[in-house]
Amino acid sequence: MTNTPSPGVERQAIIDLDALRHNVQHIADIARPARIMAVVKADGYGHGAVPCARAAVEAGAAWLGVAHITEALELRAAGLEVPILAWLHTPSSQFRDAVEAGIDLGVSGWELEHVVAAARELQRPARVHLKIDTGLGRNGCPPEKWEELVSSAMEHQEEGLLRVVGIFSHFAVADEPEREETDLQIDRFREAVAVAEDAGVDAEVRHIANTPATLSRPDSHFDLVRVGVGIFGLSPFAGQKPVELGLRPVMTLKATVAGCKEVPAGQGVSYGLRYTTTEPTTLALVPLGYADGVPRASDGGPVVIGGKRYRVCGRIAMDQLVVDLEAAHLDASVLGHEAVLFGSGGEDPGADDWADAANTINYEIVARIGARVPRVYLGGPA
Ligand SMILES: *Cc1c(COP(=O)(O)O)cnc(C)c1O
Repeated sequence: MTNTPSPGVERQAIIDLDALRHNVQHIADIARPARIMAVVKADGYGHGAVPCARAAVEAGAAWLGVAHITEALELRAAGLEVPILAWLHTPSSQFRDAVEAGIDLGVSGWELEHVVAAARELQRPARVHLKIDTGLGRNGCPPEKWEELVSSAMEHQEEGLLRVVGIFSHFAVADEPEREETDLQIDRFREAVAVAEDAGVDAEVRHIANTPATLSRPDSHFDLVRVGVGIFGLSPFAGQKPVELGLRPVMTLKATVAGCKEVPAGQGVSYGLRYTTTEPTTLALVPLGYADGVPRASDGGPVVIGGKRYRVCGRIAMDQLVVDLEAAHLDASVLGHEAVLFGSGGEDPGADDWADAANTINYEIVARIGARVPRVYLGGPA
């Protein structure tokens, strides 16, 4: 990391696509023979959906997954041709556009009639993945209604209006490998698959594993694993770092220091004056705030300036935060130097450190980095 400012680069999220490709390949080795669905919802967990999807496919991901149809359409429009599954719909979703673009649709119940109506209109069969709720309690068909859902899907398949491509479910506690609910969910999933197969479903893919299950439960891999946070190089397990899992963090968040000044003891800092210097010291001003996705609720998040790790002091504002350099007289001002909040280097703090400071999870830290922070891509696109 250099301390020389680059013109025009005031704040940036550097997205290392080589790291992403490494993560996809590493997880593919673990999951094989199951294939990888790279989950790039929410703008690729804040990393940029299209470039990350492209890099994931280059590295061997056979499928893409997103929550919304709109997200899937964006990937198709960008020229991604692999199967793309979208699983979270409302009665206002663009089912017709999805069927027309050949998007695979998750169906938990009510969606079926919307999908079938779109297929009928277009005279083109929809590609459907039936979702069973094995215990998470979000969407997914309740077990009592599963037979009914499967049989109406099969009727429509016989009419030529859809093809049941997949059967899937989602885990609730796979990030806590010691919990037994995961065993129960796998049992229920096997039962649901058996019921569907008895009813004539011949699915290409059965899938339930997210990143933590992919890494900790080989018995959950089935034909396909849906991996999100892992491809971005973050650990899904509390207390386990990416490097221990063979993963490389993809995002580095940094900014150019906007101010540096000496202050006396007793100087209050930022809104609410919740921090007061106890000694004469130097404060650095970093132009990233909660509008950029740095959580206001965080307490003492880490910032690296000039190779040394400091903590944020005082309230994080909309556009800026302050770091106490704990030095009365610096040899030189750090104005224009780089301030790294989290990154991929060994010595850099991680998104996990910010998650701890904000009492949240690393997923939320990266997913909320704001639109005002330009994403700068390294290592591609090929
Ligand atoms: C977000 C999501 C995933 C990916 O989860 P990770 O823990 O990030 O791997 C997989 N499946 C579904 C249904 C999801 O919503």
